[in-house]
Amino acid sequence: SSEPHAILKQDYQAAQDFYHHILLRTQAGVSALEYLHQRQLTDETIEHFQIGYAPDQSQILWSFFQEKSKSTPELQRSGLFTESDQGQFYDRFQDRVVFPVTDQSGKTIAFSGRLLQPPPPDRPVGKYLNSPETEIFHKSKTLFNLAAAKTAIRKQGEVVLFEGFMDVISAYQAGLKNGVASMGTSLTSEQIYLLQRLTHRLIICYDGDAPGIKAAQRALKLLQETNLEVGVVVLPGGQDPDEFIKKQGGDAFVKLVQHKSLSPVAFMIEFLSQQYDLSNDLQKVDFLNSALKYLAPVQSPVEQELYVRQLAERLQLSVTAVQQELADQIKSQK
Ligand code: ATP
Ligand code: MN
Ligand code: MN
Ligand code: MN
Repeated sequence: SSEPHAILKQDYQAAQDFYHHILLRTQAGVSALEYLHQRQLTDETIEHFQIGYAPDQSQILWSFFQEKSKSTPELQRSGLFTESDQGQFYDRFQDRVVFPVTDQSGKTIAFSGRLLQPPPPDRPVGKYLNSPETEIFHKSKTLFNLAAAKTAIRKQGEVVLFEGFMDVISAYQAGLKNGVASMGTSLTSEQIYLLQRLTHRLIICYDGDAPGIKAAQRALKLLQETNLEVGVVVLPGGQDPDEFIKKQGGDAFVKLVQHKSLSPVAFMIEFLSQQYDLSNDLQKVDFLNSALKYLAPVQSPVEQELYVRQLAERLQLSVTAVQQELADQIKSQK
């Protein structure tokens, strides 16, 4: 075939259909389907994302491919199997809900599999397991849902970046169809490049917990180097988007993303403020000095004044005092 990796992609398509069939049409899939329904996914959503289930068996996919007379080297290259020291092949995904991951043209190139139960702490398995890097799958250059979201990203003029697959899926169900997620790793410059070709605006909507906020800061640093306009949504109570949607509803979530995103500077200041006790005067001064470090580099005078006013109000200080303090800090940096 003209496409060098076409065969591996066909294997992924076959595996996807197999796992999807098991989830929807067999006894082995019943508990996984219950799990997805309990997470409030509709059948339409399960269909749209072609979600499947790899049952609790060690060689069911292997046998399926044996019947198709696939060569061993081809199956080795696919990343769908693991090889034991004795040269035995086992299904990589066992007892996991599998989410297909596609390339930019929508062809499946990998899976991410989630255990139905969170693994006990003493077991060396992750809640999520991805396909390994293969000739068709490079996780640093892949974004979950990018191919399917393309039209919506162009139409809305923005993309929403999530941490988790389930966040993308819940958001989709809530009507937000321009969501993507990185593959369980930090955002990369290759992924940013892919997004820049589609849009000029990106909203970060990571988990509201400490790791999510840290990851957002890292992403912001990378995004500084680009000309993307960036907003950050901070979810209350350490929730992730999927949890927020479940508790507050899809409409509340869409409103939050569309109207309550913070500019990078406002986000950094918001995050900073949580580390101080602002009822204490000394800490107030410390916080103000740290916050002004983020304001000093802001180029637009209008934007700068806006933040000065917000800070002044928050700290119950006069705008003039905060302005003076900022001017002093800028002078001392020169
Ligand atoms: P769920 O709601 O299903 O529990 P989540 O998306 O909220 O999942 P997080 O713990 O917030 O899970 O992790 C965010 C993302 O990081 C996951 O969607 C997954 O892509 C990735 N991830 C999490 N744990 C692992 C892991 N052990 N190995 C690989 N990737 C992981
Ligand atoms: Mn998390
Ligand atoms: Mn999460
Ligand atoms: Mn979650």
